[in-house]
Amino acid sequence: MLNIFELQKELVCAALPSGLESRQATIIKNYAAHYCDEFYTDALGNLICHIKGPGKKIMFAAHMDVIGFMATFIDERGYIRFVPVGGHTPAYLIGATVRFENGICGCIQPDEKAKPGSTVLTDIMLQNLYIDIGAESYEDACSMVSVGMYATFATEPKMVADGNMMTPYADNLTSCAVLLSAMSEMVYPVNDVWCVFSVQEELGCRGAKVAANAIRPYMGIAIDLTRTGDTPSETDNLRMTVKLGGGPAIKIKDSSLICDKPVVEHLRACAVRSGIEYQDEVLLAGGTDASAMQRSREGTLSGAVSIPGRSIHSPGEIINISDAENAARLIAAAAKTEI
Ligand SMILES: [Zn+2]
Repeated sequence: MLNIFELQKELVCAALPSGLESRQATIIKNYAAHYCDEFYTDALGNLICHIKGPGKKIMFAAHMDVIGFMATFIDERGYIRFVPVGGHTPAYLIGATVRFENGICGCIQPDEKAKPGSTVLTDIMLQNLYIDIGAESYEDACSMVSVGMYATFATEPKMVADGNMMTPYADNLTSCAVLLSAMSEMVYPVNDVWCVFSVQEELGCRGAKVAANAIRPYMGIAIDLTRTGDTPSETDNLRMTVKLGGGPAIKIKDSSLICDKPVVEHLRACAVRSGIEYQDEVLLAGGTDASAMQRSREGTLSGAVSIPGRSIHSPGEIINISDAENAARLIAAAAKTEI
């Protein structure tokens, strides 16, 4: 079993947003090469790893892209406006430190319209935010950052209370670490196993669809984060039963798919047989690569294993390391148990 926290640290430092995943792909490839028979990268950038087995094809997909920002406009004082890459909650962003792809760091700040006191927090719009890199003029800023450059959250992963990890991009670099960890346990599987580290999930599950069309799996299982119902101010009718530390979640439904029963049953049976405590997941809003696999070609039996996470898409997502480790064990069992 690989060390999830150390892998997360390595991946977070390198990762770039959807559309430019090559840095995290290289790190993942260096690990994956030890655990598969063959691998290749397709035209879109998906990293596809094959562990040969005699049975039916099973595809696992963990998206390796992360959400981020792209510079759109630099004003005369050197402040940088941006568009989101992937889904952002503006309230999470004020004060967040970010790092451009060339290493230049900055901080997201609100303009006059979004300053506390001039409006309520929920009214903050992304267009009221800018990045301050400390430049003193347009020319100064342009010597460091150009329009079209990507930026990501620059916060470092940390271990916090109760075996929990606080980090940006648990969604979905932690799932990549989990899939790598699972691959290290998939020696001579009975199924024909395809592990895909997909691109551009945050922009609409683009990579997994292309990969599934090429692989033509019998069954597809995504690995991603899911929300929890254990944070404050959730009203009961919007609440989820999933909680941190309760084990990996087996998805039943989210807004992008109804999971196919044979997949849910396969995962539950593997969990029970391996003595892994799991949770039932109905995610109220959000989707995963499972939906792309389900709708590939003539249709694929699809489902997902989820890692419970608080404050998803914030720079301080929190997941439980044991949940992640048990997700890896469950995925390895699902690969090795006949479908
Ligand atoms: Zn995700």
